[in-house]
Amino acid sequence: MNLHPRVSPQDRPIAVEIRVRGRVQGVGFRPTVWRHARELGLAGEVLNDADGVLVRVAGGEATVAAFIQRLEDEPPPLARIDRIETRTFADPLPDEFRIADSIAGVAHTQVAPDAAICPACAQEVVDPFARRYRYAFANCTHCGPRLSIVQGIPYDRASTTMAPFAMCDPCRTEYRNPSDRRFHAEAIACHACGPKAMLVRLDGRAVSFDQHSMLDDVDAVCGLLQKGEIVAIKGLGGYQLACDATNVDAVARLRRSKRRERKPFALMARDLDVIRRYCAVGAEEERQLAGPQGPIVLLRAQGPEQLSEAVAPGLATLGFMLPTTPLHLLVLRRMNRPVVMTSGNFSDEPQVIDNAEARERLGGIATYALIHDRDIANRVDDSVVRVMDGRARVLRRARGFAPAPIRLPDGFAATPELLAMGGELKATFCLVKDGEAILSQHQGDLEDAATHDDYTRNLALYRRLFDHTPTALVADRHPEYLSSKLARARARAEALPLIEAQHHHAHIAACLVDNEYPLGAPEVLGIVLDGAGWGDDGTIWGGEFLLADYRGYRRVGTFKPVPLLGGAQAVREPWRNLYGHLMAEIGWPAFAMNFSQLEVHAWLAAKPRATLDAMAKKRINAPPASSCGRLFDAVAALLDLCRERQAYEGEAAARLEAIVDEDTLRHEDDALGYPLGIPNLRGSGLPYVEPLAMWQAILGDLILQTPVPVIAARFHIGLARVIVAMTRKLARRDEGTARFDTVALSGGCFQNRILFEEVVRRLEAEKFVVLSHARVPANDGGLALGQAAIGAAHLIAINTHQQGNKPCASGFPDGS
Ligand SMILES: [Zn+2]
Ligand SMILES: [Zn+2]
Repeated sequence: MNLHPRVSPQDRPIAVEIRVRGRVQGVGFRPTVWRHARELGLAGEVLNDADGVLVRVAGGEATVAAFIQRLEDEPPPLARIDRIETRTFADPLPDEFRIADSIAGVAHTQVAPDAAICPACAQEVVDPFARRYRYAFANCTHCGPRLSIVQGIPYDRASTTMAPFAMCDPCRTEYRNPSDRRFHAEAIACHACGPKAMLVRLDGRAVSFDQHSMLDDVDAVCGLLQKGEIVAIKGLGGYQLACDATNVDAVARLRRSKRRERKPFALMARDLDVIRRYCAVGAEEERQLAGPQGPIVLLRAQGPEQLSEAVAPGLATLGFMLPTTPLHLLVLRRMNRPVVMTSGNFSDEPQVIDNAEARERLGGIATYALIHDRDIANRVDDSVVRVMDGRARVLRRARGFAPAPIRLPDGFAATPELLAMGGELKATFCLVKDGEAILSQHQGDLEDAATHDDYTRNLALYRRLFDHTPTALVADRHPEYLSSKLARARARAEALPLIEAQHHHAHIAACLVDNEYPLGAPEVLGIVLDGAGWGDDGTIWGGEFLLADYRGYRRVGTFKPVPLLGGAQAVREPWRNLYGHLMAEIGWPAFAMNFSQLEVHAWLAAKPRATLDAMAKKRINAPPASSCGRLFDAVAALLDLCRERQAYEGEAAARLEAIVDEDTLRHEDDALGYPLGIPNLRGSGLPYVEPLAMWQAILGDLILQTPVPVIAARFHIGLARVIVAMTRKLARRDEGTARFDTVALSGGCFQNRILFEEVVRRLEAEKFVVLSHARVPANDGGLALGQAAIGAAHLIAINTHQQGNKPCASGFPDGS
């Protein structure tokens, strides 16, 4: 298809070298370049080197310009072009455009994230006349496994778990053909040469195939699901457990046997039509569901049909994904209803990835398993995304997103290689190299021993994959975080400097990086609302207003510190926070006198109050915590949404959000939102959020038998209002020059859609610039990125200082 003459009279012949930077390796970039060049009749070559892709072309000036335009307009689906630079070129070029060998010693090897099945492959596996009809491992340069199969660098077949599969001749021909979309697709495979899926029984007995009417082993799974069986499926990044989501008995059995009491189950559906029967799907949500990352998308449960309460107890959202691999697509093809697709593990342990382990560990949950013989090199969980305030926000960053690098903002180019170790829950770690941050996939909670082992194993793997040698380590200041302990041990062993970052400062820094906020730009007000983080005064922080940049911070406001009765136990048992708050605000005599007719009075009276009071008084196992998360717990406990015990982290807050009456939220007079004050703390004089009047108002509403959904709405509005009032107070706009005009929102509480959207709307109405999380989680999953930026800012400041330049006015608390 050569529509363009090589050189027209207006088309002066030129030769240029084009440098393309960004995510351009391992994503089918060279064949795309090749195709465009051939179609335009250009001569030259394309190759990979240490800086990305290098193209040299000769042809008419206008044609070359059109060629560059095409590269920008039509890159391959998984590519991301950061920059294109051109310069004229004089050396001779081949007449016929060709793909040249890569220049050896590529140091920049990029390991791409796993990508959901592309439309072409999806079409192929359901086409009875295609060579890969019903082939569960079809993939191409635009889709398929990457991080989950890679064991080393450079990224080619030999360093993946595809190494044992020798390509057959037809596959090899495709692999070598630049016009084929499988050109250099390292995981290329077909029925003849690739991995195979097998249906087995986990109890060791043989599968009796005559029982099932089916096309093949994969199709048989659909029949089993329809009959109410729980089936273990070896997915892309780990084993999953599947059952018919409309089968109440199957869902209940899965909950019991997996020991997952109430945490919501993820769902998978064949297509959007099935999802729309249960959920409202907006345009951005649809884009996320169908995108190459293929995450679980949290959707509002609202449609003509309903799933049983057991799928997501007490919540108003359902987490849906579409089939992301040919295997899932083929399993679900005949399934006209949603399927639970949850991680294959017991409660909070990491997902099983190994076939032998699956037999041992999952046999008690599922009778059947769909296994296959391609090893999973790296465990990669499903990612979770939620659309809030019109934008997709990553809540859990794993499959499809990691390990795509995140470019550090302007000012960070000179950062030496460093490693940030993250937090404790939802742990991730982060490497910095060449001005980019490589944030690991979600690892899980480090207090679980198996997760901890995985975390250390993955640290070693990433170090290999990215050829990374840190010159410094960054960790949270919390003395007991396992990641901090590891960092300290490693800093000692390798004689590396250790930088300790304050938890909430790291949250803000993560938000700043997420928004490409430059190093050296003015301070922002960071509002960090979360469960708990180690504060500088040895108390627990979790509702903080910090004036901050990457280099340092000042705490300028907080939430009221209330004793955490029982320490960690108070995190699990919401009623402890309710009792702590009521005693700190009202005291038992006043509570008993005014509210004894409320059932919660008798409920709390039955608790060991004397012990609790003594703990609070003597400060034994009752550390003061200025935590917004615990305030949510306390309110949820009062409303009996989740009182005795949380079955998973954040359950109480999630239920409180879920029950909010949208009508009250939108139409009720704002003034009915509960009042929270902003007095100053005794001693420090720090302004803080005082909930006393709010408690009195809620208790009053309970006496009046105000519906709980209305109370929940008033609580969210009151909280949003006081956060904005605090911001206004701290900005001091009335004193001539405002202290800040930009506000960064971070912390897990901002994954609450209602609180987040209310705060953003109100701040923007007052003309504050609001920065919020989108690419990295607002919760502790983003912590490592913020730590990395803080560490980088620190090291850059030291280097600048050592070079005799003006030292940075930092006030950076040096923890090393
Ligand atoms: Zn494909
Ligand atoms: Zn083959």
